[in-house]
Amino acid sequence: MVKTDKFKSKTQTPSLTNGDTKKKLTVSSDPGTTDPALMEFFKGELKDIYWAENHLVEVLPKMIEAATTDTLAKAISSHLKETLEHVSRIERVFDLLGEKHQAKKCDAMEGITKEGDGILEETEAGSSTRDVGIIMASQKVEHYEIATYGGLIQLANVLGLSEAVDLLSQTLLEEKRSDENLTAISVNDINYRASAE
Ligand code: FE
Ligand code: FE
Repeated sequence: MVKTDKFKSKTQTPSLTNGDTKKKLTVSSDPGTTDPALMEFFKGELKDIYWAENHLVEVLPKMIEAATTDTLAKAISSHLKETLEHVSRIERVFDLLGEKHQAKKCDAMEGITKEGDGILEETEAGSSTRDVGIIMASQKVEHYEIATYGGLIQLANVLGLSEAVDLLSQTLLEEKRSDENLTAISVNDINYRASAE
């Protein structure tokens, strides 16, 4: 996560009128604000999700391998392909900003995926209960991503970065679809089988 203290002072501009000491955003005429602190914050969050997506590229194969049903393994495999695209979309946003492709460790995603490892240890290989656990862990991942991309899109909008909005929106849509697909697999198939085990 981004440390906020270093951004505080940058949002303060000297007050020249009427004793108005409130924080001011430096707003360009168009498009969007050019507030440097907000832009730094956006870049920081981008580095965070860049780490998270790269981390998922490393850990998803283990989940595919561990899944009991073909349906779940295939769903995660196809999302792994999308995840590679998520990585490259973030790189395109870095390029738009003239920034290096730099990752910053995402403690939240590390924690969520550690929890996923724990589920594999606690459930039996070949059981439907394992799939239930993998689905829960995967949906926690998707929800974190959905929250992050939702926030990044809002920020990109405010900053007037329309190409970034487009790129990040494509990814957000895929995260939402993946989440819905996992729900469908769980409702239609896995939960039923696990309850019969
Ligand atoms: Fe993703
Ligand atoms: Fe995802």
